[in-house]
Amino acid sequence: MPSQVVLITGTSSGIGLAAAIASAQAGWTTVATLRDTNRADALRKAAESAGVELDIRQLDVTDPDSVHAAIDGVIADHGRLDALVNNAGAGHIGTIENDTVEDVRRVMEVNFFGVVEASKAALPHLRATGGRLITVTSVGGAVGQPFNEAYCAAKFAVEGFMESLAPVAAKLGVTVSLVEPGAVDTEFVTNIGIDPAAAIAAAGPYADTLRSYVTHILGVTADTGQTPAQAAAPIVEALTAGRPAFRVQTSDWAREFTSAKLADLDGSRTLGMTGAWLG
Ligand code: NAP
Repeated sequence: MPSQVVLITGTSSGIGLAAAIASAQAGWTTVATLRDTNRADALRKAAESAGVELDIRQLDVTDPDSVHAAIDGVIADHGRLDALVNNAGAGHIGTIENDTVEDVRRVMEVNFFGVVEASKAALPHLRATGGRLITVTSVGGAVGQPFNEAYCAAKFAVEGFMESLAPVAAKLGVTVSLVEPGAVDTEFVTNIGIDPAAAIAAAGPYADTLRSYVTHILGVTADTGQTPAQAAAPIVEALTAGRPAFRVQTSDWAREFTSAKLADLDGSRTLGMTGAWLG
């Protein structure tokens, strides 16, 4: 049987980079995509030291042409697509009185519409292989968090989209899964691109509240933060397990945190109910 092919978005750093290495180590032909292939040095070095090969390609989830070109290229060159890992994403710290609506739209473009675009392009090929559609959301896809209005809204949107799609896709042989990390030590915070002191100084009436939040979240990150490899392990589990859970948290802390909100941590009760509607 030919090697199974997975395409992963956002592999320049962090969880996506670690997932690309781990899936290649698990024997998958791994198409590691980046919006800017000039930023592939860390990925190439990691692949070299792990002794694995990656097929590195350009894909910007906010650019439909780039999404379709990448997926068409995979089909042309590998003949199949067995899994898509929607990992690309970007954080945003702010509150609506200080943000613009345009800021919120930008966060939705990357974290929600990017997932929609890539999933739509991949689905016909995943149907052909009985493949897997895996999306990295966040504990913030279950629990709204202060100063994360736009980010959590986007991750909630992804969770609702995938929970709705899962029973329908399952009828056509495609398994849909969500992976919810808590804090992970990646470029995520740096990529948000704000200096906390400057953001607090610019936050006007929200300054004290933002200072408290930043202090809190730095403490949570220091106490519970995972490595990218730890957060990537459940992604590979969702690729390889016989019957992966619909929703998986990446750590005990993430499970406990989301259990404040979710009565159905792994999604089995919900999908048991909605799947039954489809005969
Ligand atoms: P990261 O190191 O910043 O990685 C994010 C990746 O997404 C980067 O490769 C980035 O590429 C890419 N990306 C951003 N915009 C993109 C676009 N338009 N098209 C394609 N790729 C794009 O952060 P990470 O922590 O590994 O994040 C991975 C996923 O985990 C995200 O979905 C994030 O929301 C989620 N997550 C992270 C944490 C955490 O604490 N780190 C917690 C919960 C969930 P560039 O290098 O080009 O920017």
